[in-house]
Amino acid sequence: MKLLTREQWGALPATGRSTIQLPVERLWLHHTASADHGVLSVRSAQRYHLSRGWNDIGYSWLYSPATRTFYEGRGAGVAGAHTGGDNFRSHALCVIGNYDLSTVPAHVIDDLAEFLAWHARYGPAQFTGGHRDAPGASTSCPGKNLYRLLPSINRHSVTPEGDTGQDKVPPAKVPPIKVPPAKPAPDTTTEEAEVKELVTGIQEALKTAGFDPGAVDGYWGPKTQAAFARALAKPAAKPAAKPAPSVKSVSEMADEVIAGKHGQGHANRRRSLGITKYGYAKVRAEVNRRF
Ligand SMILES: [Zn+2]
Repeated sequence: MKLLTREQWGALPATGRSTIQLPVERLWLHHTASADHGVLSVRSAQRYHLSRGWNDIGYSWLYSPATRTFYEGRGAGVAGAHTGGDNFRSHALCVIGNYDLSTVPAHVIDDLAEFLAWHARYGPAQFTGGHRDAPGASTSCPGKNLYRLLPSINRHSVTPEGDTGQDKVPPAKVPPIKVPPAKPAPDTTTEEAEVKELVTGIQEALKTAGFDPGAVDGYWGPKTQAAFARALAKPAAKPAAKPAPSVKSVSEMADEVIAGKHGQGHANRRRSLGITKYGYAKVRAEVNRRF
């Protein structure tokens, strides 16, 4: 099992940390609901979570099927921000990718089973469930295609032969969790909208910083990926100076309206000035003030 420490993947320092008791009672499975770009996805997830005011990347560990690598998130014995209501009693592994859309490569079952056997020293050697199974959760996470494989992944989890398990704590008994009956359909749209919003934000930031991400459309395509990689490679790059927008002042626009430059009628004038209704209201007020 290839596991990169925070230092190895270039984590930013956490801004806070709460320890929790080991072994933890539960282990949840998540997906990022975004494309798998290995270490770049891990770094961008951390930046995004920090930008939301969280202490650190939300998950205990992450895994990239594309690179078959695990990444240390908050790590063992640290409260996460992953599974609402259970962050102080559980760990979470997040598989990078969107498994409502993508199928799951076959090697993921083996890799996750190996992770589970390794995790036995900190708590359950099986996933308690997917994020969607957590009490009160309203999400499709970890995506229908990955969720479907959960029983199979749990079945494959075995402690490797020859492992003395010297430093092991016996696996915690998994308390039954209450899953509300007749659960409403998972809310995929909210999650997709959030991802789109996140990607749009990154694209806007890249554009402002002078790294052309292509269309600002919320879709993580090759152009956005390339721009993101360039931005990461040059963290000290100075953002391109943004030209000051040539906006006329309310007073100048009022002068022009009075001079008849923008025709007759409010709708025509507003169109001709190319401003919002709110902006036009200010011009009108200025014109009225002068008469
Ligand atoms: Zn989740």
